[in-house]
Amino acid sequence: ADDDTPPAPRRTQDRVAEAAAVRTASSEPPPLPGEFRNEPDTDPALASNRRWWEEHRDSDGGAALHATHLTDSDEVDAVVGRARAASAGWRDAGAEHRGRMLLRAADIMGARRGEFLSVMADEVGKTPDQSDPEVSEAIDFLRYYALRAQDLDRVEGAEFAPDSVVLITPPWNFPVAIPTGSTVAALAAGASAIHKPSSPTPRCSALIIECLHQAGVPEDVLQLVTTDEREVGRALVSHPHVDRVILTGSSETASLFRSFRTDLQIAAETSGKNALVITPSADRDLAVADLVTSAFGHAGQKCSAASLAILVGSTADSQRFRDQLVDAASSLIVGWPTVGPDGAQRTHSHAASMGPLTVDPEDKLLQALTTLEPGEEWLLEPERLDDTGRLWSPGIKTGVAPGSHFHLTEVFGPVLGIMRASSLEEAIDMQNAVDFGLTGGIHSLDAAEVETWLDRVEAGNVYVNRGITGAIVQRQPFGGWKKSSVGLGSKAGGPRYLMQFGTWHDAGPAD
Ligand code: GLU
Repeated sequence: ADDDTPPAPRRTQDRVAEAAAVRTASSEPPPLPGEFRNEPDTDPALASNRRWWEEHRDSDGGAALHATHLTDSDEVDAVVGRARAASAGWRDAGAEHRGRMLLRAADIMGARRGEFLSVMADEVGKTPDQSDPEVSEAIDFLRYYALRAQDLDRVEGAEFAPDSVVLITPPWNFPVAIPTGSTVAALAAGASAIHKPSSPTPRCSALIIECLHQAGVPEDVLQLVTTDEREVGRALVSHPHVDRVILTGSSETASLFRSFRTDLQIAAETSGKNALVITPSADRDLAVADLVTSAFGHAGQKCSAASLAILVGSTADSQRFRDQLVDAASSLIVGWPTVGPDGAQRTHSHAASMGPLTVDPEDKLLQALTTLEPGEEWLLEPERLDDTGRLWSPGIKTGVAPGSHFHLTEVFGPVLGIMRASSLEEAIDMQNAVDFGLTGGIHSLDAAEVETWLDRVEAGNVYVNRGITGAIVQRQPFGGWKKSSVGLGSKAGGPRYLMQFGTWHDAGPAD
């Protein structure tokens, strides 16, 4: 009962009070704080937060779609021309002015958190355990880059000239955090941004853009565009006055973009095939919990998801470990977080801890969900739960063979494959055998094992004794290695990320 709710920890925010405070705040953008602090997620232990979420979960929140819909290349010229013309004023306004505007956008986004949760449930089927931290991450990007923009003018002996126009092409799997992060990085650095949402998530993007415009970012400095035409998309990506393209998507899309224009400046975060290694010394309870969240959070639709568990030695033979894993995965409540695609209200929707696939499964995912390769067996067979074809229970297969299709291919869905290794060295070889290098983890309580693994693992983001998804702005910047990244100068959410949005010139000898 609400009366029994313990007092909230100090970091907890009361979402209702927070929204009211922003509504009554003066129109002056806030000054830049001395240091960055991560935004807390909504704490469900606080009764007012639970009531707040009840009010929002079924609301039809979110911005109307004020996008420029592009149908031919003349319109592309016009959009890019406007962005370019507006860029000098934005650049010259200075890092502090831009930063204060972004801070104000962070406050507005915080006050509109409920709308973001509702639109994310609607467009991608995200459950609140996934969508709430995503809003926090987006707010973190705004506040963090607002501060880091100052650094660009403080590099000794070098002068920074920001890009004029940056094109942002974000993914649908993190439709709030990633689009906000890339867009705001370009804006903070002093460039104009053209934001083209991923096709399943136009309203998430529209809401982000609305918060930024509401905060005072000029309309021409930040434009939202959509198109249904491939040729128009191509004209935009390869436009001579687009200085840089920021892409988060598949490696195939990155190659396609590069084929449009040989001198394309692109920073792309692409696919992954990530493993969590579990050694006999691990805290197994913790390992199981982290494995299940990393594999099945957002139904496995994360580039960072754990797609492989590599069990070392006796862990591989432990029946208790398998039972625990199956128990944990089967206890996930799978459901549509709000309404289904046909508009029907689904059962147990509000309790869902694993949502649907956002789009119809591609062949490689369908194959992973329904077939076994030689040597594989289902430990937990995935089931198709309704006739949309998008709602699946989690699947776990054992006996994944080194070099098999499942070992080496990204599937992007709720299937976990188990491999067995006789030693840690062998486990690391299996982990590094994939072309990608996005995330990787180890569960081990043996310091020497952890050190060996850290020395050898080929992944941009490495995690010890925790899950392998959920990078945190400033504390755990995010960026891939090997085929997981194309032209990426520095990690997102890290101190040097903004430095790639422009060119550096020698400032000449100081006199
Ligand atoms: N930044 C996200 C994470 O750390 C992953 C991004 C992605 O999947 O594209 O989980």
